[in-house]
Amino acid sequence: MNIEQIHPSRALLRGFSENDTPAFLSDSTEGYRLRIAKGLLRLCLFLGIILLAPVFFFVFHDGDYWFLAVSCSAYAAMVALHFAKSLRERTLYFGIIAVLFLLGAYLIGRFGSVSTGETWICAATMLATVFFGIRGAVMACLAQALVLGGIEAAQALGALSWSEAPLLFAMAAIDGIGLGIITGVAQYYLIGGLRRSIEARGKLASELSLREAELDRESASRHDAERRADFLESHDPLTRLPNRESFELELARALEAAAGRGRILGVMAVGLDRFKRIGETHGPDAGDAVLVEIGVRLARWFRNDDVVARSGGDVFLVLLSDVKSPEDAKDIIDKSRRAFDRSFSIGGSEIGLSASFGLALYPNDGQGAEGLIRAAEAALQLSKNDGPGSYRLYDADLHSRLIAMTLIEHELRGALSSEAFLPWYQPKVDILGRIVGAEALARWRLPGGGMRQPVDFIPAAERSGFIGDLGRIVLAKACAAAAAWGRMGLEPIPISVNLSPYQFRSDALVPDIRRILNATGLPASRLDLEITESGIMDDLPGAIEKLAELKALGCTISIDDFGTGYSSFAALRDFPVDSVKLPQSFIEPLPRDRRASTITGAVIDLAHKLCFSVVAEGVENAEQFAWLGAASCDQYQGFLFARPMPGEIFEAALAGGLGRP
Ligand code: C2E
Ligand code: CA
Ligand code: CA
Repeated sequence: MNIEQIHPSRALLRGFSENDTPAFLSDSTEGYRLRIAKGLLRLCLFLGIILLAPVFFFVFHDGDYWFLAVSCSAYAAMVALHFAKSLRERTLYFGIIAVLFLLGAYLIGRFGSVSTGETWICAATMLATVFFGIRGAVMACLAQALVLGGIEAAQALGALSWSEAPLLFAMAAIDGIGLGIITGVAQYYLIGGLRRSIEARGKLASELSLREAELDRESASRHDAERRADFLESHDPLTRLPNRESFELELARALEAAAGRGRILGVMAVGLDRFKRIGETHGPDAGDAVLVEIGVRLARWFRNDDVVARSGGDVFLVLLSDVKSPEDAKDIIDKSRRAFDRSFSIGGSEIGLSASFGLALYPNDGQGAEGLIRAAEAALQLSKNDGPGSYRLYDADLHSRLIAMTLIEHELRGALSSEAFLPWYQPKVDILGRIVGAEALARWRLPGGGMRQPVDFIPAAERSGFIGDLGRIVLAKACAAAAAWGRMGLEPIPISVNLSPYQFRSDALVPDIRRILNATGLPASRLDLEITESGIMDDLPGAIEKLAELKALGCTISIDDFGTGYSSFAALRDFPVDSVKLPQSFIEPLPRDRRASTITGAVIDLAHKLCFSVVAEGVENAEQFAWLGAASCDQYQGFLFARPMPGEIFEAALAGGLGRP
């Protein structure tokens, strides 16, 4: 029997083959029958010896040779059946039954028919076997033998002589016992087989239910594992947000639903500003924690049917499922920005973070999911060039700008090894218009003679990591030029050099500056380093330490674009700096914008109270200059006095003056 026949539905289940069939099931019906037949034969051979004894009595007493011949033939037939090796089962069964039948028929013919009463008694023996097992069978056989023998003997009493009666009784009793034993044992085996098959079924059923439970458990855990695998395949394991691939699928679905219905969809790419900095300063775990927190914030920030996903690194994607009109783009970005209003707590300290945004709209900026995502990411990439917290909406020529940007990164590599980079100089003047300093501003001389402006390559240099080399080149050339002007007997003005946040954080900065000052012979006091506020605030304690080291060299420090970053008044107090530079955005609205004027005036006062000198940048007209003069600004820089210029021209200006504005 095969397990699949018992439970076909289980046939498919793994790991339960025919080889696993329990031993108790291996006993087939055929084998069982054969065993009964063999047992029966052995029994007959044994009982036959006993039964033959009275036969001999009859032969000698009555001369009944027929009886002897038949009995011996029957016995011989049984012996033959017992020892025959190559008999087929069915022939064997038939042989046994035939011998018993023929013998029975002969006995009935010779001694008279068996009464129905005997059949009933046989039935009682059978029941005794069923109900009480082998013991019941033995008792029943004895009883049967006694009764049958008794009846036989009593009946015979009338016809036979007294001397023959006990013999008849004994014969009938032996017959009864033989018959009883044969039927009893056969029935016993039959019932035993039945019982065992019932037990086997029970066992099999419980085995199966155990297996079934095991399989259920297995399939539940497999299901669990599959669900986990599915989840991991479509989700970012860190933030548990959908990943880029599933975002794309989701977007494709939304696009399909929106197609032809005049609906506008938005894809926004959100990139964290200066995210690398967090990892560098606070460790990778802090970076991960920030990403998780941002994921949670963004997911809460947008509507339920919007989809927030993590595209990879520090970039998140948002599918805006219902944009009312393209004009809403700005509002959407403003709203998204507010998700970053609250500071992030990292390792016990609170840190402000900003993000840049790129937005692409369906159907204007693309039709397919992949194209829209790329458009949003391209817009994001460009917005990153505009500084922290910027945004860009995708437009058609954005892509070409992006390609140009990538090209620039490629060109940068080559340009660094050539003499392509050089500083130009923009004078800083005092209230009388005298040159009191200069800012070195990087320029990239192109092979054709053109000049590339910082806006076109500084962001690329920062992105590609070339800014360190570039900054070092500008620093060395500016220091060399300033030292040369000193040696030429020109006014020993300080020279200001811009440091990118990346350079500022680098451990190489202080040794580099020391080496350059030594090499050029420029006194440290004539080197001013301009650092943006955000470059300092990213890691305030580290920055203060670095500023102190630079000061210890003897350099002065200026905070560039002061008032545009996130510094708090409390932090300002600790900055070991000498001056602050007010950005053009503070100067431009002067003096007509009353509020702007008030703010700029207050910032100048505050800086003075903190003992910083104040440099106004981007001074373009006389009104601004006059207003700033009245506000006691210390130095001025802007197109009103001079534009950035090549070293030779600046040298001439330094020798001859700029002329009064
Ligand atoms: P910045 O440090 O704020 O430099 C001042 C920028 O304002 C210069 O632009 C200058 O040409 C411009 N500017 C000066 N006066 C006026 C004015 O009156 N009106 C207007 N509209 N603009 C004025 P530039 O040279 O294009 O440099 C842009 C930025 O590139 C700089 O801003 C600085 O952040 C960065 N940069 C320039 N050179 C270097 C460098 O060597 N290293 C690093 N890290 N950054 C540099
Ligand atoms: Ca500057
Ligand atoms: Ca500036």
